[in-house]
Amino acid sequence: MGDPVRYTPIFCFHSVVENVAPGDGFGYPAAGFERLLDWFSRREYRTMTLDEYSASPRFSPKRVIFTFDDGYSNFNTVVSPLLEKHGFGATLYTYPGFHVGDERSSGAAGGPHALFTKEEFVEAASRPGVEVGAHGLSHENFTELDAEELDAELAESKKILEDLTGREIRTVAYPRGRFNSRCVKAVVKAGYSTAVSGDSSDGSLFSIPRIAPPLPFSEGKTLFKASGLSPFARKIRTKNT
Ligand SMILES: [Zn+2]
Repeated sequence: MGDPVRYTPIFCFHSVVENVAPGDGFGYPAAGFERLLDWFSRREYRTMTLDEYSASPRFSPKRVIFTFDDGYSNFNTVVSPLLEKHGFGATLYTYPGFHVGDERSSGAAGGPHALFTKEEFVEAASRPGVEVGAHGLSHENFTELDAEELDAELAESKKILEDLTGREIRTVAYPRGRFNSRCVKAVVKAGYSTAVSGDSSDGSLFSIPRIAPPLPFSEGKTLFKASGLSPFARKIRTKNT
C-alpha cells in the first residue's frame, strides 16, 4: 500500500439550521458549521469552485470546497451570511423539479428544511462566490432510471438552471450519491464537466468524492478522525454498482 490519495477537501452539507429540534437527525447546527469555517479561516484556506477544481490537480494546498445539496431556504438565511463573513464561496446543487414553479413544495413548506422557492433560488445563485450545479430534476436515484429518463433528468435540470441563472451549468451531484458507469457516460453526454458523489469514486472528474461532516463538528482532529482523513487524505471506495 502506498500513501493514501490526497484530495482537496470537498464538504457535502444539506440543511443548516440555527436550532436543531429534538429528534431532527437531518439539520446541521449552524454553530458547528461556523466552527468548521473558522477552522479553515484560521489556516488561511480559500474556497474554490468545482470548475476551478476540474482545471487543477486533485489536491490543491489551502483550498477547500463547501457544497450544499438539494436547495434549502436556510442557505440564504443561515449559510450565506456565515460564508460571506469568512469570504468563502460555495457550490449549490439543486433539483429544479421542486422550485421551478413559484410555489414551495408542499411537503417541505414551513418547516426547518423548507426547499427554495424559485425566487429564493435566484437570490441564492446571485450571492457572491456561489456556483450552481444540478442535482437531477426530481432527485431520482440515477442508477434506477432507464436511459431516456436519465438523459431527461440531466438535460432538463441543466436547461432550467441555466435559464434561471443565465450561466452555464457545468457540474452535477448524483442524487443520494449513487452512480455507476452508465450514469457517468450520461453525465458526459449531457455536457457536464464534473460530477460529485458521496464517499465513492471511479477516480475520474465524474465521481468526485465528498466528505459528509460529522455531526456535530467540534475540532479539526475529530473531523479528520471521523472522516478517515489525515488531513484530507483518505481511502476512497471503488465505485458502487
Ligand atoms: Zn440530494
